[in-house]
Amino acid sequence: MCSMKTVVSVFVLVLCLHHADVLAMSSILQVSPPGENLLSSTAKDDAEKIIEAAFDTTIVYDRLAYMTDTFGPRFSGTPELERAIDWIQAAAEQEDGITVKSEPVMVPRWVRGNEYANLLVPRRKSMRILALGGSVGTNGTTLHGSVIVVSSFDDLENQKDHIRGKIVVYNQDFVSYGDTVAYRVSGAERAEAHGAIAALIRSVTPYGIQTPHTGSTHTSSIPAVSITIEDAKMFARMQARGQSMEIELYLEAHTLPDVQSRNLILEVVGSKHPDEFVVLGGHTDSWDIADGAMDDGGGAFVAWEAVRLIKTLGLRPDRTIRAVLWTNEENGARGGQAYANDHISELDKHSIALESDLGTFTPHGLSFAGSDDARAIVTAIGEKLLSGIGSGNVTGVGVGEDASYLNERGVPSGSLYTVDVRQGGDSNNPCLPFSQPPYPEFQEENFGSSAYFWYHHTAADTIDKLSPQQLQHCAATLGVFVYSIANLPSLLPR
Ligand SMILES: [Zn+2]
Repeated sequence: MCSMKTVVSVFVLVLCLHHADVLAMSSILQVSPPGENLLSSTAKDDAEKIIEAAFDTTIVYDRLAYMTDTFGPRFSGTPELERAIDWIQAAAEQEDGITVKSEPVMVPRWVRGNEYANLLVPRRKSMRILALGGSVGTNGTTLHGSVIVVSSFDDLENQKDHIRGKIVVYNQDFVSYGDTVAYRVSGAERAEAHGAIAALIRSVTPYGIQTPHTGSTHTSSIPAVSITIEDAKMFARMQARGQSMEIELYLEAHTLPDVQSRNLILEVVGSKHPDEFVVLGGHTDSWDIADGAMDDGGGAFVAWEAVRLIKTLGLRPDRTIRAVLWTNEENGARGGQAYANDHISELDKHSIALESDLGTFTPHGLSFAGSDDARAIVTAIGEKLLSGIGSGNVTGVGVGEDASYLNERGVPSGSLYTVDVRQGGDSNNPCLPFSQPPYPEFQEENFGSSAYFWYHHTAADTIDKLSPQQLQHCAATLGVFVYSIANLPSLLPR
């Protein structure tokens, strides 16, 4: 997940769900649960089969661990991404018997190359940095400059007469991902507008252990680099004392012509309405420095697993269920755009598009973007079929990046949202017993500081951050939602 669109969605999810709204909505639903009456007579039994089967195998964790260990980072335009996609396609077809379609997508090819930054004055220090995706390099030379630290965009404006010829360090506080990512996305271009020669941007994370976080930036003609929280704070302290700071920076970052990748579509064809669709998915690509287990191998693989469970159980949905494994979400979202464009003539037959790109920790439910009538149906399905495992809550209005291109064309959309128990739960028991609500004190506000953003877009986004039980739980949740929505009497209302 990287773009402003996702970012805004998370922000909306976090801030726009007021308690009063929730109470009003739930009281309406208690009076009138429209979705419940629409479920088939076998819906409850089918949901229980999916849940039981999901928790009966660790295949989704085993596959994700294999892929991330074997192919490593899956950056757009690289052979590693294509080899991982090949492997997914072969396993889904040959081991699971799932029909897989491959749809070509042209994706950007940004190359990091070698890079370093050293503080030279007041002492020599090798900095841990990551160029931001889309940044320009330093043209084969080492760029030298003195440093000016700003704490916000307002502070940048206040100090604008002192920026020219300098390296701007942004030391913005982390408020939420949705708020703070603006510095990563547009910090360099705003610094350049005042004559800066480079922008060093504090990593967008609530917590750091000298870990730089990369991510997309608007390309400007000056280098844009992520630095650690620790270094950003040190520069701010030095400036407050009146100390001069000088830095040297070397980046080989550059952009090559687009390369062909592809989306994968894993399908179970509908028995009654094969030309009507229920979509779920995640993205196959990752940043170049990350194994991308959390972001978003887990999201892609729980979608795959949901389809595998339905197929393996011999369940025949009325409508076609498609797991779409989008390519190139991270630095272009070309996969999400391509699916929406390539299937534009079918979009009025898409009942819903669910996305998982906010971590595959313990699922809480869906954030949902669609009409009130559709929300009421999806809410009732969650309450009826998933409350027993604690993951049937439908809330918020967030949409993921890849599904957003469907949502903006009218397709009701949802985003799986999950909670990392490191936020305050028992780290030795990542999937607490279902009889005990995993997060009795869960507050929407906490989401912004979920451990997802500790590892997001870093080399620490590795499989050990996930648990088999959490992935099973996510797959069960998505499987029940898509199977029951695929069997409703009609498409979700718009
Ligand atoms: Zn992602």
